[in-house]
Amino acid sequence: MIYPIVKFGDPVLETQAAPITAFDDKLKQLVEDMFESMYAAHGVGLAAPQIGISKRLAVIDVTFKEDPTAKLVLVNPEIIHSEGKQTQNEGCLSIPEFREPVTRANKVTVRAQDVDGKWFERTGEELLARAFLHETDHLNGKLYISHISALKRDLMKRKIKKLVKAGEWK
Ligand SMILES: [Zn+2]
Repeated sequence: MIYPIVKFGDPVLETQAAPITAFDDKLKQLVEDMFESMYAAHGVGLAAPQIGISKRLAVIDVTFKEDPTAKLVLVNPEIIHSEGKQTQNEGCLSIPEFREPVTRANKVTVRAQDVDGKWFERTGEELLARAFLHETDHLNGKLYISHISALKRDLMKRKIKKLVKAGEWK
């Protein structure tokens, strides 16, 4: 099932998501649906709050279907190490059409559970490191625009307000 993506302005995107405690078939179905929804939206990462589910779950595929082994499910993820710096344009499926340069750590280690509840650690660099940070931020109710200047953020919010008014932000 493909879920519609929740857009900026919905409070679920700025809410701390709840930990996942049940590692059942329902969770496995949700993970499948999230991959399907992410690919349909042409994204490389998707967090559960972005489909209106305030739970600590995210899916990532920075290769966008090219490498099936690159599909990653992060349940209850925590960033346990980060180092270095990178600055790249960043976007978000919940804030479509906008992109801004964001400086983030270049090498990041995440600790998370898989769909069966088994803990694992994974280190990523560059785009994968960025995805770990971006998606974990989502679960803490934080959007990438909190990492850009207040001036740029206000400008973006003004543009979005206009789109909302025009009925072009749904
Ligand atoms: Zn996002």
